[in-house]
Amino acid sequence: MKAISVLGSTGSIGTQTLEIAEEFPEQFRVVALTAGRNLELLVKQIQRHTPELVAVADADLLPELQQRLKALTAEQRPQQLPQLVGGPDGLNVAASWDSADLVVTGIVGCAGLLPTLAAVRAGKDLALANKETLIAAAPVVLPELKKSGSRLLPADSEHSAIFQCLQGTPWAENARLSTGSPTPGLRRIQLTASGGAFRDWDAADLENATVADATSHPNWSMGRKITVDSASLMNKGLEVIEAHYLFGLDYDHIEIVIHPQSIIHSMIELADSSVLAQLGWPDMKLPILYCLSWPERLETPWRRLNLMEVGQLSFSGPDPDKYPCMELAYAAGRAGGTMPAVMNAANEEAVAQFLEERIHFLDIPEVIEAACERHKPDLMDHPQLENVLQVDQWARSAVREQVNRGTSRVSVSALAAA
Ligand code: NAD
Ligand code: MG
Repeated sequence: MKAISVLGSTGSIGTQTLEIAEEFPEQFRVVALTAGRNLELLVKQIQRHTPELVAVADADLLPELQQRLKALTAEQRPQQLPQLVGGPDGLNVAASWDSADLVVTGIVGCAGLLPTLAAVRAGKDLALANKETLIAAAPVVLPELKKSGSRLLPADSEHSAIFQCLQGTPWAENARLSTGSPTPGLRRIQLTASGGAFRDWDAADLENATVADATSHPNWSMGRKITVDSASLMNKGLEVIEAHYLFGLDYDHIEIVIHPQSIIHSMIELADSSVLAQLGWPDMKLPILYCLSWPERLETPWRRLNLMEVGQLSFSGPDPDKYPCMELAYAAGRAGGTMPAVMNAANEEAVAQFLEERIHFLDIPEVIEAACERHKPDLMDHPQLENVLQVDQWARSAVREQVNRGTSRVSVSALAAA
């Protein structure tokens, strides 16, 4: 039985991981949970999974959590109440919890960086969903992985697809470790993208895009931040950088293909020109399960793919004018060093500002580009952890400053209307 610690248990990745644990009680045992603010759901998860440890990101919420657990009736209360911890140290304790074999990183954003590092340093295997960590801090995380021997199993559906395809090659042994070394014989990666919420919109109509439009994804049900990233194609841009670090290919050999049906989850081309793909309905439970069961495969009763039902699979190249974030991500990836951290943090802040309706959807690439331009003279090729944390904070404040100066489309149009 594998013991798992679930970071971000109340989010989209976290809840799906717990559904899997419930479905396979003989295989998986949940020993630690962490959550942000959703205490109501967290209490239900504690009742159902009886973890040994629970951490809340905001230590000020601990008394309320204690209160909620105390208020449970004798029948509702689990036999053994978990140890409760809070704040950044609490998250690190959950990430490095002694009895955990594998840590699922379902925290959104660079907030997942320190807990992920704590898991790596404790030698835990990782089911990596939190892509922002690797993008911001691969120069720090990858050497730590090599040192500790932790194995990085990709939970992102595209990287899981690549990882699964690589299992069938002579370099499977290499591909297992995913520590950024070039995978021999891997010639090209094609990441598939649904095209997000605006895939059927003309670029000119994006002027009218609202938060509600950007947060309704056609194929996948995910957290709000990644759904906006999908609409801007930044998510795919982040995944290009993630693929670069995981599989060691240079950026010229990692391509994006728009595939609206999201049935092919990504493809690899090998030295002999053979292309391997992994297919399935768009359901994150499959890549998460593979992280948990790897190298085994478990029998599931889940809906089986029927290509006759799908009918057609279609593909096209992404339009760089419609999706400027994609190019920004490639450029930041190629610049390397601290640039991906700046781009990632600027994007996180820009998306947060967009979700609060302080800037327009079309402002997102503009403020990211401005932050990346400003960072160019300060770029560090081989950053340490403190450098990554520092540029992350700098980029967020650079975006906030720019938004506060009121040069965004939303502010401008609000001013015009006033
Ligand atoms: P989500 O918003 O649904 O959930 C995020 C979780 O992190 C919640 O439990 C929340 O409480 C917690 N959290 C938020 N801010 C935090 C903070 N500052 N400190 C500690 N905990 C915090 O997000 P999600 O869609 O589940 O995505 C999680 C990660 O997985 C992201 O990095 C995303 O890119 C990646 N991912 C998600 C999907 C998906 O289908 N949802 C697919 C691929 C990759
Ligand atoms: Mg993905």
